[in-house]
Amino acid sequence: MKGYVHSIETFGTVDGPGTRYVVFMQGCPMRCKYCHNPDTWIPNTGKQKSAEEILDDCERYKAFWGKDGGLTVTGGEPLLQIDFITELFEKARERGYHTCLDTSGIIFNENNPALMEKFDRLMKSVCLVLLDIKHIDAEEHKKLTTHSNEQILAFARYLDKKNIDVWIRHVVVPGITFNEEYLTKLGEFLGTLNNIKALDVLPYHTMGVVKYENLGYDYPLKGVEALTTEQGHEAREIIRAAYHRVKDAK
Ligand code: SF4
Repeated sequence: MKGYVHSIETFGTVDGPGTRYVVFMQGCPMRCKYCHNPDTWIPNTGKQKSAEEILDDCERYKAFWGKDGGLTVTGGEPLLQIDFITELFEKARERGYHTCLDTSGIIFNENNPALMEKFDRLMKSVCLVLLDIKHIDAEEHKKLTTHSNEQILAFARYLDKKNIDVWIRHVVVPGITFNEEYLTKLGEFLGTLNNIKALDVLPYHTMGVVKYENLGYDYPLKGVEALTTEQGHEAREIIRAAYHRVKDAK
């Protein structure tokens, strides 16, 4: 089987623990207003690669991984190619690699037994999930990404049940998610889960604008300023405090 790959970063340091070989998969059903990889959106394009090709290439870099590093798959939305990712991760685990899946979980659907079988199988070879929660409020999530967050929150609960380690990633955007009420709700939701190992608060930046111009797309957040580091710390603190309030009340 071959997967559609957008690009590969051989020395990634921001997509999971340690130094990592990062595979950006092609295709995403969402249209997050702040997406800085709009060139990954269209499915079934890009380079076609087999799991072996990717893993053989990993061998050239794994000496740099140390004890924490490994293989990360991101996108786009890697779960659009769940069969390929499953094959890739199963073979990666046979080689002893640490596997990390960066996803929004948008395709998760507990009402689809055939798909759930695929999720259950994939999870057996996933060491860590980086779960991108875009917005905790259902309506605001739709406005921000064009999709509901229902499946994403269900996926978070599923990962908790499966006892899979999760790092939460949350992009904080002025005027959209930089909002005390929403950040508190997010922290409270996370407080109901028992598998959260880290929280990555990612301050919104405008570095993706050039890609939109090159692709001839309108940039949806024109005029929105980047979040400052200080505001990022403030947002993190609000989420963290709400998380601990829920944990302490248990
Ligand atoms: S889920 Fe990721 S790749 Fe897809 S639109 Fe959102 S930010 Fe972009």
